[in-house]
Amino acid sequence: MLFKKKFDVIVVGGGHAGTEAASASSRMGSSTLLITQKKNTIGTLSCNPAIGGIGKSQLVREIDALGGIMARCIDKSGIQFRILNSAKGPAVRSTRAQADRKIYSQNIKNFLKQHNNLTIIEEEVKDFIIDNFHIKGVIVNNGIKFFSKSVVLTAGTFLKGKICIGLNNFSGGRIGSNASTNLALKLRELFPMNISRLKTGTPPRLDGRTINFGILKPQYSDNPLPIFSFIGNIQEHPRQIPCHITYTNEKTHAIVKEKLNFSAMYSGIIKSIGPRYCPSLEDKIVNFPDRLKHQIFLEPGSLFGIEIYPNGISTSLPENVQVELVRSIKGLEKAKIICPGYAIEYDYFDPKCLKLTLETKLISGLFFAGQINGTTGYEEAASQGLLSGINASLHASDKEEWFPKRNEAYLGVLIDDLCTKGTKEPYRMFTARSEYRLMLREDNADLRLTEIGRNLGLINEERWKRYNQKLKSIKNESLRLKNFIINPISINIEKLNKFWKLKLNKKINARELLRRPEVTYNDLMKLNELGPGIEDLEAIQQIEIQEKYKGYISRQKKEVIRYLNKENITLSKIKNYHEVKGLSHEVISKLNFYKPYSIGQASRISGITPAAISILLIYLKKTIIQNVL
Ligand code: FAD
Repeated sequence: MLFKKKFDVIVVGGGHAGTEAASASSRMGSSTLLITQKKNTIGTLSCNPAIGGIGKSQLVREIDALGGIMARCIDKSGIQFRILNSAKGPAVRSTRAQADRKIYSQNIKNFLKQHNNLTIIEEEVKDFIIDNFHIKGVIVNNGIKFFSKSVVLTAGTFLKGKICIGLNNFSGGRIGSNASTNLALKLRELFPMNISRLKTGTPPRLDGRTINFGILKPQYSDNPLPIFSFIGNIQEHPRQIPCHITYTNEKTHAIVKEKLNFSAMYSGIIKSIGPRYCPSLEDKIVNFPDRLKHQIFLEPGSLFGIEIYPNGISTSLPENVQVELVRSIKGLEKAKIICPGYAIEYDYFDPKCLKLTLETKLISGLFFAGQINGTTGYEEAASQGLLSGINASLHASDKEEWFPKRNEAYLGVLIDDLCTKGTKEPYRMFTARSEYRLMLREDNADLRLTEIGRNLGLINEERWKRYNQKLKSIKNESLRLKNFIINPISINIEKLNKFWKLKLNKKINARELLRRPEVTYNDLMKLNELGPGIEDLEAIQQIEIQEKYKGYISRQKKEVIRYLNKENITLSKIKNYHEVKGLSHEVISKLNFYKPYSIGQASRISGITPAAISILLIYLKKTIIQNVL
């Protein structure tokens, strides 16, 4: 029996957004209540058993740099780790790990247990307590009220979720879980203009004992094994196992084409838009009729279980058709389906109705995070959860809000894209979405964000100490390299020529030499006078990247200065844009709706013209001068 009813922060939903939100707010010292439908589903990977990937690993590392739990959990549960884009530049290199589902969600639960200020209960929230546009708490299904200063809603795909398999459909949040219908109806009352529907889908899960892996190409983890968390280590990784690769073929495509009208998506049962970058097999075959095959990764869902996740054949065809199409694929001729693929349609909010802190513009203290804001993916959800948890805690203690800008983090790009432009289809992060991606690399997330996290109260002593050690190593070693002068007329030149066939004709310091593509730090340390050097591999990586990409990075820094010039002119003093003479009605109503925090954000809103920006700048100048006089 729970007696405590008053908290600083209440988080609704124990998915990827909810667990990071609850963790962040409790780490910051706020008494936090996490209410979720089922305790045993906390941290569930609803779809593919994998964390990271292009654009997503950057988010995971940022969560980690702010002391979050996702990277720590995947390090302890990843059964196949790889670096994607390893042959390309550091801006797009991205770590990805397949997870053992059970170990992953168990680790999330274990981490949450270590949080002092966190209480977790199993209930369904059916309503909010609101007083004069201020949140006061929530009401759960049995009528009990819980009070708080902030509430974070992270209901994922559960709001009026409708699961579709072929022509059958039924209410559900994901397979095996009830939809959240009462709360969805309340939200439709509260935000009648801001709710629409999106859809997503998942492939059938296969019984690994019925797959002929022997005839398929295996794919193994990278060596050395990558690590996600700044404070993680390889010894934490469980045993590594391969996934296998197979392909659809003309027979598979013929089956899908013939039965297309029985698919939930093509029969008209589902009309909403799904994730562009994780299309269903039906979409792939219809949209790319010339492709004779599509790749499928057979990913193990567990080290010990039988479940195999065939990544690439998400479908909402009837179960008997799924059996037929699966068995048309090489290696799967005798495969048994243990759970059919399905599509799910759910309510989501127009993220334009949110501030960049993820607080709703309408109700003070109410925050939305995760899939309900129109995103797709665990990493996008978790990073929003973290940000909303931070701001829910700040709100509860009457402190100034915080959000990262586009030049500081992928999280800044994500929230700026969502809140400024909105989304009509499930939003997925990519490196291409960031204009400053050479500066926002996964390898430097700790350097970008740990100090901010420390100031917010998110970073523990262990991480802070290691972070400072790394900073010190980078600084001292960079200085040592800078002070080491290589003179072409000294004996060094012979050794240099031996290593790199360099033709040096003037003095150069070791740091400058590192800028050459063929020169590595380890090679430099072969020079007797310089070696053996430092052992901190992460510090070495930073020194190398900072030198090798120095030219590009300094060019990008100049672009950031231009961006910040606009970003730093805040508009918070303008309460009603009617007071700004010369703006059109359209511009006034847009600015009053969005309430952009800066000239920069205003200029990214569709329909806000350069002329309108000039008028705003003149207005700001005038009012500042008037205020000074
Ligand atoms: P969820 O992980 O869905 O968690 C929501 C939580 O809220 C759950 O614990 C639920 O029990 C709880 N909850 C809901 N309502 C209430 C309430 N009223 N009271 C208390 N608790 C409540 N992502 C991809 O990147 N690619 C894909 O291809 C993909 N396919 C998917 C297919 C399916 C079928 C599903 C279901 C999801 C798919 N996803 C995919 C999305 C991925 O699962 C989500 O992006 C991610 O889980 C979202 O995290 P979240 O925290 O926002 O919500």
